Amino acid sequence: MLSFVQEGLPVRVVFGAGRRRQLRDEVQRLGIERALLITTPSKRAMAEAMAAQLEGRAAGVFDRVATHVPIEVAKAGRAEALRLGADGCIALGGGSAIGLAKAIALEQDVAIIALPTTYSGSEMTAIQGLTEDGVKRTWRDPRMLPRTVIYDPELTVTLPPSIAGPSGMNAMAHCVEAFYAEGATPLLSLAAEEGIRALARSLPVLVERPSSLEASTQTLYGAWLAGMALGAGIALHHKLCHTLGGSFDLPHAPTHAVMLPYSAHYNRDAVPDAMARIARALGAMDPSGSDAPSGLFDLARRIGGPASLEELGLRHADLDRAAELAVAAPYPNPRPVTREDVRALLEDAFFGRRPAAPAAA
Ligand code: NAD
Repeated sequence: MLSFVQEGLPVRVVFGAGRRRQLRDEVQRLGIERALLITTPSKRAMAEAMAAQLEGRAAGVFDRVATHVPIEVAKAGRAEALRLGADGCIALGGGSAIGLAKAIALEQDVAIIALPTTYSGSEMTAIQGLTEDGVKRTWRDPRMLPRTVIYDPELTVTLPPSIAGPSGMNAMAHCVEAFYAEGATPLLSLAAEEGIRALARSLPVLVERPSSLEASTQTLYGAWLAGMALGAGIALHHKLCHTLGGSFDLPHAPTHAVMLPYSAHYNRDAVPDAMARIARALGAMDPSGSDAPSGLFDLARRIGGPASLEELGLRHADLDRAAELAVAAPYPNPRPVTREDVRALLEDAFFGRRPAAPAAA
């Protein structure tokens, strides 16, 4: 029986090649007087050039972004925002830069403008992960929602295929879990389905022709939908990736790319309707018995990148602890999460085995 709560998030989305040049207007629109630009060292020059165009509305550039937002980095960012009297944060970068802006907004009254340079989808959510004492915890708070997102594919087209492919699979993971996360709604499922379609079509082209602005545009379109779909919440897949990233220091997007076929396989028989829609959007429904998990496996192989947890540097001896941590405080999931089943999933992912096909009807 249909039953859901749909909340529209008030994010202004500005999408298109060259749209970053609209930044000054967007800053003005929000009434920001002292913007702190947050970025990585490699994009410092670009951030400084953007700051120069803000005609006195930029307070400074902070480039100490680190992946998974360690609490020390969050504290340093907050101190800098306070010192400069910032009333806005402009995040230029991937999920890590956007995550730091959110960490600042959680404690200080700053409006966020995000200019994503990866396909992480973080810019469309009020969710934030912070890492403290080797454990990554996730918060949801409306103060962290960016007020404006400027999607400019000229910013993502510079991504090397080794980052673009896994980052696109990170977006894909948001779409897949949106179908069966606790907050799933008909509208978010539509966004997720269209996101899967856009990503499945564009990612193979993008890794073959990384300088294709059209492929970068289509992937960014998929990433926007994925970020919106992420509003439905997350399930076992994200829990596993947060555990592997936060406690074993595995890289965020490549871990998503490796794990997604296995977590989808774990839930396959619990949510058959969702899996059929995912398979259809992937173009992975064929008479040979291809289904959503194997479609995701084939796509991940096609875009290259690491194929197993072993390749990502996890030790086999870590699997027991990873399974324990992943089931300690599980996210809601359609199939019950048990230590034994999760351990078996991790074993398959460790060796990069093809998920078993469904039994013939
Ligand atoms: P990232 O921001 O750490 O960037 C990955 C790498 O790509 C970095 O080395 C960066 O310098 C490089 N890079 C970024 N843009 C580039 C470009 N245009 N050209 C060349 N190199 C570029 O990685 P990410 O995967 O975008 O984000 C990961 C973080 O975001 C994690 O902490 C994750 O938890 C968080 N995240 C949060 C949400 C959410 O909703 N809260 C969603 C997704 C990810």
